[in-house]
Amino acid sequence: MARKYIIVGTGAAGLAAAEAIHECDSDGEIVIFGDDSHGFYSRPGVAYYLTRELSERQLSLCQGTGFCRIGVKVTSVHPESHTIIADGKEFDYDMLLLATGSVAVPLTVPGADLKGVVKLDNLEDARNMIKMVRSARDAVVVGGGIIALEMVEGFMARGLKTHYLLRSNRYWPNVLDKEESEIVERRLKEHGVTLHPQTEIARIIGDKGRVAAIETKSGKRIKCQMVGVAVGVQPRIELAKEAGLRTDKGILTDEFLRTGADGIFAAGDAAQVLDAVSGKTSLDTLWGTALVHGRIAGRNMAGDSLTPFKKTLPYNIMRLAGITTTIIGAVGQNEKDNDLVTISRGDSESWRQIPDVLAVQTDYDVNHIRIMLGLHTIEGALLMGDQTLSRPLRELISERIDVTPIVESLRSSGGSMADTLIDFWMARSWTGG
Ligand SMILES: Cc1cc2nc3c(=O)[nH]c(=O)nc-3n(C[C@H](O)[C@H](O)[C@H](O)COP(=O)(O)OP(=O)(O)OC[C@H]3O[C@@H](n4cnc5c(N)ncnc54)[C@H](O)[C@@H]3O)c2cc1C
Repeated sequence: MARKYIIVGTGAAGLAAAEAIHECDSDGEIVIFGDDSHGFYSRPGVAYYLTRELSERQLSLCQGTGFCRIGVKVTSVHPESHTIIADGKEFDYDMLLLATGSVAVPLTVPGADLKGVVKLDNLEDARNMIKMVRSARDAVVVGGGIIALEMVEGFMARGLKTHYLLRSNRYWPNVLDKEESEIVERRLKEHGVTLHPQTEIARIIGDKGRVAAIETKSGKRIKCQMVGVAVGVQPRIELAKEAGLRTDKGILTDEFLRTGADGIFAAGDAAQVLDAVSGKTSLDTLWGTALVHGRIAGRNMAGDSLTPFKKTLPYNIMRLAGITTTIIGAVGQNEKDNDLVTISRGDSESWRQIPDVLAVQTDYDVNHIRIMLGLHTIEGALLMGDQTLSRPLRELISERIDVTPIVESLRSSGGSMADTLIDFWMARSWTGG
């Protein structure tokens, strides 16, 4: 008899899992449930839809492998009977994947439920924002990380006068250093954004149920018709929790993405996965990690042997105020980010690790490189602007290449650090090292 697979979630992890299951067990019956009525699309792309750089059609991904129940919410999971309930009906499974993703943490100030307070979790949120900006002139954004900036850029691109409130004294202080925050802030100001550092929202003032202004904790009022909120995300763990599965911040799994309940796996933003090397569990809210989780979970659900998830170097290319920025490995700063109450999207807990290393940096105009230099290896890097060194640095860091021959030169080279790195990397490539 064909094996029955159920996947909850039509995101990157769910899709990748369905494909992996199909490859391993082409006779298996796969049913995917997703409560997002827009089906399969690129979530990172939603921010570019907001800025008009991508159309809705360009966001759409493939139709998915298996039988898809789009717009249908799974309301409960019953591990003892191997069943789930969706749309009031019972479905049985041999193997179940929870790839339920994450949702924005809501703002808890008075007035947060007024019309005009928006978040950016999915395509419907972006559509909602686009509809509302038509009758708005001013917007306020609160929060940190990538999504808050994407909301700022989205409002600007749609012609709104935009205020960005930062609880911290600078942008993204636990990942960016002071100079990098300044580069982003300078760019935002050039684009016309009004920045309010060390400013906390106290309440949102309404008029006939709609946002009319915000008031800061110091009593200042800013007139606005929209408030964008990006104070962090939380994994969607409610199904797992109610089913009695082990949860912490996310759904806890071993290195094979198994939850501990018979036949139930978890993957993507929702999963807090064990790293067998460090013995610690961690959350990543990255598209790339969700794909890898999904592939491995799918293989482990349908294959004959188990593949462990090996935590790879967290890597992301993003745009910060229009500046292409790549973050590789641990680049953390010893500062708290008051703008976020949890991890934000497109984020990795690993970036914030503070390696016991020396930070060396060089920059010219907006091109900026920071490397976290250990005794013999580079532990992390952050590049803003020119991305020529992105691939070499990714290789040097992920393969833990011994850079002893150039350590002194890197420490002292300042402006020529980029040349030193490129020369070293090219010499290695030529010699097949
Ligand atoms: C605006 C935006 C920008 C981003 N930018 C970046 C970036 O630059 N780089 C990067 O790496 N990552 C970025 N991300 C994060 C990235 O998109 C996520 O890490 C990734 O989508 C996670 O995939 P997932 O499959 O785990 O979850 P999701 O994509 O969130 O999918 C989960 C799905 O499960 C469904 N679901 C949940 N519960 C149920 C239920 N009970 N019943 C039925 N369906 C359910 C949800 O509707 C959803 O469709 C961004 C995300 C957003 C929203």
